[in-house]
Amino acid sequence: MNIINLSSSIEITPAQISFCEELCENGDNNTEKDSYYWLLNHLHIFLVNEANFVKYVQEYEDKSSGDKPSTDWLGYYTRLDCPPFSNTPIIVICPERIAKCVSSDDEFTWLFAKVLIHELSHAKLDFNNEKNAYVHTPPEDPFFYTWMEESIANMMTLGLFDTVVDRGDWYQKSSAFAKDFVTKQPPKYAFGGWLYANLSFNGLKWREVKTRPDRLLCVKKPWNDYVRSCTKKEYKYRVIRCFLVQMGICDFELQDEQQCENISIEEDTTDMSFMFCGCSSLTEIPKLDTSNVTDMNYMFGGCFSIINISDILKYKIPEDYQEIFGIKEIDDLINKYKNRPQDKFKMIKELKLIDKKYM
Ligand SMILES: [Zn+2]
Repeated sequence: MNIINLSSSIEITPAQISFCEELCENGDNNTEKDSYYWLLNHLHIFLVNEANFVKYVQEYEDKSSGDKPSTDWLGYYTRLDCPPFSNTPIIVICPERIAKCVSSDDEFTWLFAKVLIHELSHAKLDFNNEKNAYVHTPPEDPFFYTWMEESIANMMTLGLFDTVVDRGDWYQKSSAFAKDFVTKQPPKYAFGGWLYANLSFNGLKWREVKTRPDRLLCVKKPWNDYVRSCTKKEYKYRVIRCFLVQMGICDFELQDEQQCENISIEEDTTDMSFMFCGCSSLTEIPKLDTSNVTDMNYMFGGCFSIINISDILKYKIPEDYQEIFGIKEIDDLINKYKNRPQDKFKMIKELKLIDKKYM
């Protein structure tokens, strides 16, 4: 493990390093170039104090100008342009920050390992088999990319902790701690804990498909299965549907549509965001009282089968709405075709084309 302490006052102990190695050894094939163990032994891991960490994070964010996912607050994964690190991923971790999140040495060991492995997972998810190299492809859609990338990195990390739980109490506690920590992270990270508990698919599928829209269908079945198993969790169901729409694999079957219709709507509901998102078989805009609604973002995102989009005009629409159908040009479209019902198919076609820009 190539740990280089640049400025941290906290040293990582041999026992702490051993624990990280133990997790990585158990995770996958040790000789593959994209295995955790290979990564752990070949990537450079820099430790910095808080002042430096904040500086680097800011520089990183400035450089990325929004086209890279924001990373963990305790560590990050990036690449340097200068030799000898050119084009090689590096990991930067702030032990001082980790220390602030824990209440014992054991917890420090577990959280350090969690942060490190999360960052290694990013590297793993950037490995390109054809090029035999780590290639970071800037996401076309940072919102979607970050949710997927961060949650899958966390899902993979939790999986690694579970490879050692049969070794006794201390290991079981490490796994429980990691899972608990993830639930306290911001939603796009915490979602990884939920994925792990409910679905836990092979994260490398995401690596295969994330830069290739034509391959997104690969993940369709696990996602659909997952959605069906979680129908009572309304909010999460919406989020999943949003993902499916963003991935362009939103062909829900009729049973899913019925579940959509069964969403109970309280009289004073103010948030209808994502409500029907991804219901690609929905043909009509349902009759709902939206007079108290303040958020209709993506309410009908990906609902490509709605025959008369202009029915949306029957709703009271919040003044500052952004994207009800997942497109910003909805106003223009509705106005353009409002008085020409014969052109509705043209409108729907146009809607689809516009929508693709945001996937
Ligand atoms: Zn991350």
